Amino acid sequence: MDPAVDAERARQLSLFRPLGYQRNSCGYCKSDNGSEFGVFQPTPPTLGGGIPASLTGNHPGASYYTSSVSVRPAHYEELVNRGWRRSGTLYYKPNLQRSCCPHYTMRLEASAFKPRRDQRKAVNRWNKFILGPEYIRRAAYLCPKTREEKKQRRDTFDLADAVHQAEYDRVKRPIDPKTKKPLEPAHRFEVNLEGDSISQAKFELFLKYQTTVHKEDVSKWQTKDFKRFLCSGITRSPANAARSDEQKLGSWHQCYRLDGKLIAVAVLDLMPHGVSSVYIFYDPAYEAWEFGKLSAMREIAMAAEEKYQYYYMGYYIHSCQKMRYKGTFRPQYILDPESYTWHPLDGELAQKLDKRSYVSLSGDRARSSNGTTTTTGDTETAADAGINDEEVSLFDVHMPGVLTLDEMRTIDLDNWLLLVHGTFVHMNDLRGWESMPMNNPQSVKGIIAELAAVLGPAVVENSAVVLFD
Ligand SMILES: [Zn+2]
Repeated sequence: MDPAVDAERARQLSLFRPLGYQRNSCGYCKSDNGSEFGVFQPTPPTLGGGIPASLTGNHPGASYYTSSVSVRPAHYEELVNRGWRRSGTLYYKPNLQRSCCPHYTMRLEASAFKPRRDQRKAVNRWNKFILGPEYIRRAAYLCPKTREEKKQRRDTFDLADAVHQAEYDRVKRPIDPKTKKPLEPAHRFEVNLEGDSISQAKFELFLKYQTTVHKEDVSKWQTKDFKRFLCSGITRSPANAARSDEQKLGSWHQCYRLDGKLIAVAVLDLMPHGVSSVYIFYDPAYEAWEFGKLSAMREIAMAAEEKYQYYYMGYYIHSCQKMRYKGTFRPQYILDPESYTWHPLDGELAQKLDKRSYVSLSGDRARSSNGTTTTTGDTETAADAGINDEEVSLFDVHMPGVLTLDEMRTIDLDNWLLLVHGTFVHMNDLRGWESMPMNNPQSVKGIIAELAAVLGPAVVENSAVVLFD
């Protein structure tokens, strides 16, 4: 048998291991701990493994899960724009229609970002702290600004200028005639984009942050968990970033150092058209400086300067107070869970979200034009009862944004690639494939079809499934 793909094509593929549609607990309305991966912190589900009763709680939600150690940034971008997100090597797409706290994907256009007063103030305050009063006073004397420059800086806020202003390699250090030495700022502040590898300094900083800011028990985290969650991202390129002009893609750590000491790490997923913020942890001693704001401003500036275009702040949960700050980075857009189009968060959408938790503006329009009322809450009851019940197919759940059985006919499942013991084959090489029903969740075809329906056509085209090994 000829190999289904050559080596070059194999390197361009993303790989997905289907885990299926499963319940998850809600980490948002049950606890006020705002940690982003609070929800998915328990051990990832395994195929057919079921979810412990302790996780189903009073407010269960459900998501479709898949795991992967190999996802190409362009494919991840496609998934993010279909409501997916990742936690380490676990990829998931929540069912927004049956969640107590629906997770909406949000993004903003970096070049259109208008920082609020408090956001501008946070950056200016940090810069002042880094430079220090002595430096600021002497620099004003040694390299005086023209009246025009002073006016410019007072009246306008240039985001890129502001976030880079206090970085050590940008700080002007004229020779001070008094000391005959270069004028030094109060602190040496450096920010570097590095690979998402683990180090002792990162792990210690992370522990300090989780235990102090999120009040977690130190025993909860071991290096392997840290590695799985924050150092196992999407495929990174180029290999030697320092010597390449190529666009940086994949998972990176933006490391902040103060006087040589690591004080913050922002975990970023860089996609062809977007910078996605995964997590930030910092030294709690600097909590007052509002690193959440500082890092978001820096990442938005990066998205604009390096032409990524969009900035993704992760999921937005309208009912969660701790998430409301994300909406203050404006103008912000929300992904429509049914049509995958983007709508401004302000205005009609926000008004509707104040009244009900699940909103699809495109769905509302379609339903009002054909005379049906909003379907939220009626059809799902029967399917709800069957989650984790092996009899129920994802195609019966009617999860928003997932292809229907009818739409599945547009996908060439027969020629989708399957990785079996290191070799790629086509689905229709499997014995009995043709006669398997797509809507039987226990058949191989059922499992494969559900994965395809949630990934969407573009990713199916460029990926392979890992099932038997
Ligand atoms: Zn909830």
